[in-house]
Amino acid sequence: MGRLRPEEISSILKGAITDYENRVRTEEVGQVLEVGDGIARVHGLSNVAYQEMLEFEDARGDKIMGLALNLEEDNVGVIIAGDDTHIREGNIVRRTERLASIPVGEGVLGRVITSLGAPMDGKGEIKSDGDRPVEIIAPGIIKRQPVKEPLQTGIKAIDATTPIGRGQRELIIGDRKTGKTSIALDTIINQSDQNVKCIYVAVGQKDSSVAGVVASLEEAGAMEYTTVINASASQSATLQYLAPYAGCAVAEYFMEKGEATLIIFDDLSKHAVAYRQMMLLLRRPPGREAYPGDVFYLHSRLLERAAKLSDAEGGGSMTALPIIETKAGDISAYIPTNVISITDGQIFLDSDLFNSNQRPAIAVGLSVSRVGSSAQTKSMKSVAGTLKLDLSQYRELESFAQFGSDLDKTTQDTLSRGARLTAILRQNERDPLPVEEQVAVIYAATNNYMRDVEPNDVPDFELQLRDNLRDSHNEILKGIREEGKLSDENEEKLKDAIKRFAENFEPEQSAVNAGAASDNSESSDSNSSGNGSGSNEG
Ligand code: ATP
Ligand code: MG
Repeated sequence: MGRLRPEEISSILKGAITDYENRVRTEEVGQVLEVGDGIARVHGLSNVAYQEMLEFEDARGDKIMGLALNLEEDNVGVIIAGDDTHIREGNIVRRTERLASIPVGEGVLGRVITSLGAPMDGKGEIKSDGDRPVEIIAPGIIKRQPVKEPLQTGIKAIDATTPIGRGQRELIIGDRKTGKTSIALDTIINQSDQNVKCIYVAVGQKDSSVAGVVASLEEAGAMEYTTVINASASQSATLQYLAPYAGCAVAEYFMEKGEATLIIFDDLSKHAVAYRQMMLLLRRPPGREAYPGDVFYLHSRLLERAAKLSDAEGGGSMTALPIIETKAGDISAYIPTNVISITDGQIFLDSDLFNSNQRPAIAVGLSVSRVGSSAQTKSMKSVAGTLKLDLSQYRELESFAQFGSDLDKTTQDTLSRGARLTAILRQNERDPLPVEEQVAVIYAATNNYMRDVEPNDVPDFELQLRDNLRDSHNEILKGIREEGKLSDENEEKLKDAIKRFAENFEPEQSAVNAGAASDNSESSDSNSSGNGSGSNEG
């Protein structure tokens, strides 16, 4: 062995010293200065990281986890994630050097878990492919590409007028009980044959509501490819705060493997409230509506993680559907405006429409999708092109036609057409439609084949037309599905089929009775709903 040179000696010494420092750091412990309301101030943890998990040892010797959120010069503000009643001044706090993290992998599909990955469904331990920190920095612009593939929701009103692309962020916004969750669930259910992994994040909901969601998904066979993260109202604000980020971590695992994912945040209003609660307890200064100043960053860094990765990165995607609950339709409140400005469009649900039985209650005029149309299939684009414009013209006319009596022929035509277009966008929940059937029924509506059908009978017409096409003209549907567009040849065939069907259409109950029991309930539903629009016409 040769002799060591001076610079080698000094580097070895330096290495030894750094190692020594590291060893000291792992044993770093602090002491509780004060505790109360689920918050502790801890002294002596000067190297702690933001969002690091800390371990409290309380007066009974139990270990309780906390999350370091306020890093101040001489102390650390910690949110306690469990029962703080036995934590006392002077108790010991240890660093874990782990950031809040969650298990990821195929093993979390079909499971209901907390924000930190603890199972809540009694199905035993989670077989994960390792843990991931819940917070990461979103992929940069170089790693992305524009959205180009559709994310089919199976809901006519959305796929036709506010189409969503994979990697897009589309907000679902509306008052309470306007069908927000139903839209999200139907979208998950529609992914059964689309190869999209789904994550449903429930924040601040009742455990019973979440159980209902899980039951619906299970019944539809959708839990197989879905993870539910439940941070319910009965859990701590910390877990509610972490849940959406944890959901992203689960989705990112699949996205980075080149797969398509869909994530629902139900809802971000309650998420903001949980954050506000934590921050007020930590005595951060309250700003507008008492939210802390960085509440915008809370949601922007979350939604930034939705992405369509470039082909070099595997081409995976994360589509995000955040939900916001408004009060009395007020979309100009603080949190709604923030999230509207972060997303690529919104689906606005209107309680008046909902109550007049126009369900899903999507206000077409107030809903937009800024990037989705580049991802819409050619077939849908060609049939739904003028739908949005027609509907808004109809709405405008409708409002003053109620006062007038003598309407000219064109106005009457626009009104009658609009009533039928509105009716064709009605859809029952848990009944997503494949894109080729959507194309066919919207084609029939926009090309005036429903002229002689009463608006009340439109759902019945639609149901029978779909049955008819599936039974007798499957090659047309297959063509639309496989070619992705409506070829001239197929269009002629479709025209023919619809024309013949419309000529023989009878809205009578006897004709419907041949169908299943659910058909009856749908037609009776539509009868009661049609009265609203019918009276406008009369
Ligand atoms: P919350 O404010 O409680 O979260 P929400 O806005 O998420 O409510 P949902 O729970 O999805 O609304 O729906 C409210 C009610 O409306 C439910 O009873 C649901 O069955 C019904 N509903 C939703 N969509 C439809 C639809 N397309 N057709 C018929 N009923 C519907
Ligand atoms: Mg809901």
